[in-house]
Order: sequence, then C-alpha cells, then structure tokens
Amino acid sequence: AQPVLAVVGRPNVGKSTLVNRILGRREAVVQDVPGVTRDRVAYDALWNGRRFTLLDTGGWVPDAKGMQAAISAQAETAMRTADAILLVVDGQVGSTTVDEAAARTLRRSDRPVLLAATKVDDERGMGEIPALWRLGLGEPYPVSGLHGRGSGDLLDAVLDVL
Ligand code: GDP
Ligand code: MG
Repeated sequence: AQPVLAVVGRPNVGKSTLVNRILGRREAVVQDVPGVTRDRVAYDALWNGRRFTLLDTGGWVPDAKGMQAAISAQAETAMRTADAILLVVDGQVGSTTVDEAAARTLRRSDRPVLLAATKVDDERGMGEIPALWRLGLGEPYPVSGLHGRGSGDLLDAVLDVL
C-alpha cells in the first residue's frame, strides 16, 4: 500500500486549502467556518512520480471537550494510521497555546513529523516563521495553500520521510 501522510492542526489554520493545493484540484472541503472538516478524508496524491495518501482531518484540539473532542478523536485516529504527520499552523498568527499542545504530543510520536506554516502568501508574511522553531519539530516550512508558494519544498521534505 502507498504511504500515508496525516495533515493535522487546530481548526481554520488552512489544512484543507493546503491539501487542495497538493492535490492540484478543489476537493477537500474548505469553508470560513472553523472545524468544517469534521471527518478524516483520504485522497490520492502524486509528487515527483510518487504516490501517497493524504488524510485531511478536522481541527485537532488536544484535551478538547464536547463536539470538538469527537472531531479531535478523528484526527488522533488519522495520526495512528499515518506513516508521517504534517502539523499545520497559521503562519500569519504564529504559534498558539493549542499549537504548542499539539507539538508537545507530536514530539513524542514515533513517526516522522513535519511542520508547515501556511497563509504565508508573500515574503512579508515571514515574520512569525523563525519563532516556530520553538515548537521543537524542526524546520518550519512556510507555505501558501492559496497561492502555492513554498509547497514544492514542503512536498520534497514530506517525500524524504515517507
Ligand atoms: P482548515 O479548517 O484548517 O481546513 O482551514 P481551511 O483550509 O478551511 O481554511 C480556513 C480559512 O483560511 C479559509 O477562509 C481559507 O480561505 C483561509 N486560508 C487557507 N489557506 C490560506 C492561505 O494560504 N492564505 C490565505 N491568505 N488564506 C488562507
Ligand atoms: Mg478543513
């Protein structure tokens, strides 16, 4: 079977938009409503001639309560299924306490974990990026899911660990 990459992160950071960019088509559900992708959704992706499965997930909020807890559980299931995990943060906002909690969990993962900061649409959007090293997940990859900026470098790094 082809390798699986789970795309996780808190609601509304731009996971589904980035997944669409990687797929090169509009399929993953994108909306302005936080947490709109409630379930795991699997897509076939192709980069540099290699096939892999992308799992888009709903918003992951470690230690969430209520409805958000059920959505988070789906993300956690996706992470257990995956060969590698991509944590997505909002590069315009920088890291939040929820991102820090996610990173803390992922630092203990036995799978490779990569960090993408999306919504970095241009050079001016790079301000929050250096501070993301503090999440302890290695190099932060700045990307724009909307425009595609940086997605090639990110995918090269993904395929190196898959
Ligand atoms: P998800 O909840 O993490 O899947 O986030 P979505 O992909 O649904 O995006 C949430 C919001 O952020 C939407 O309004 C998107 O249009 C916006 N967004 C996502 N990616 C980008 C990006 O690269 N640049 C900008 N400027 N906005 C983005
Ligand atoms: Mg989504």
